[in-house]
Amino acid sequence: MIVVLRADASQQQIDHIVDKAKELGLKAHISKGEERTIIGFIGPEDVVRKTPLEIFPGVETVIPVLAPYKLVSREFQRQSSVVSIKEGVSFGGKKIMVMAGPCSIESYEGLRKIAAEVKKAGATILRGGAFKPRTSPYDFQGLEEEGLKYLSEVGKEFGLTTISEVMDYKDLDLVSKYVDILQIGARNMQNFSLLKEIGKMKKPVMLKRGMSATIKEWLMSAEYILSNGNFSVILCERGIRTFETMTRNTLDINALIVAKEVSHLPVVVDPSHGTGQWKWVSKAAKAAVAAGCDGLMIEVHNEPENAFSDGPQSLLPVKFAKLMDDLNRVAEVVSREM
Ligand code: PEP
Ligand code: MN
Repeated sequence: MIVVLRADASQQQIDHIVDKAKELGLKAHISKGEERTIIGFIGPEDVVRKTPLEIFPGVETVIPVLAPYKLVSREFQRQSSVVSIKEGVSFGGKKIMVMAGPCSIESYEGLRKIAAEVKKAGATILRGGAFKPRTSPYDFQGLEEEGLKYLSEVGKEFGLTTISEVMDYKDLDLVSKYVDILQIGARNMQNFSLLKEIGKMKKPVMLKRGMSATIKEWLMSAEYILSNGNFSVILCERGIRTFETMTRNTLDINALIVAKEVSHLPVVVDPSHGTGQWKWVSKAAKAAVAAGCDGLMIEVHNEPENAFSDGPQSLLPVKFAKLMDDLNRVAEVVSREM
């Protein structure tokens, strides 16, 4: 339920509405616009419906939010959200953000080499996994804190913002200490305890779509984070499991288009996991930009054949630089900037 207040609503009237809602066990989210204040009430449907909010002093109108993902929906907020990370780095504006780097952080020097290349090519954010969700327990699991230290140092050296995956809520403080954006991986999209804890933080978070999740389930997971108070959420389409076997995953451009329409949150695309083969990554990235993504996450490695993980889908720096160049032209066609 969204309560739109009259332009002349007083603070006292706002407080009165919020107090009443709290009394009924509803959560209130106040959004103060330039002209008007709106309050979103979230809680059990029957309680929300039974509360005659329209008769409260200061209320102009009450709009029901029909989507099950309330705070995430465009019914709740019509304008697109801009998730700001730091000065000059934000998702959801005109500029398309590019996150690039190795799948796993392997060594300090290795990361430095890749960071230098992605920076030169125009990436804004350095990616690299330190906690790796591997299918096999015998595969490389990541350098953990050591890796995060490298990421933070290298990021600083090259003036790159950083992103890395957090797999367990016990590691939230640790990962947050070193990186600018937390990544929730596909396998953890429905790790509700992790989502709730991240929701209580202020840290920006990129939520990957689970490989078997519907768009609605993905948005409901985002709702867990927003409903706990953290609105700095970026959605990431990374491909889903389908009957197709020639690609690692099926990159779902529809999901990007639909999520952008029904939600105000920025949506980015990961064509590396989305295709699984470096030779298809650039075309999928261009398709994503043409379809309106707010950012890209691309795996880059200077020695893909020796990469600890995801070498086959990693672009060589030279290919990445060529892609960045091509993307400028695609972005221009859709009135965006790289
Ligand atoms: C990754 O970004 O390296 C990764 C593990 O991604 P996903 O969670 O999409 O599989
Ligand atoms: Mn990977």
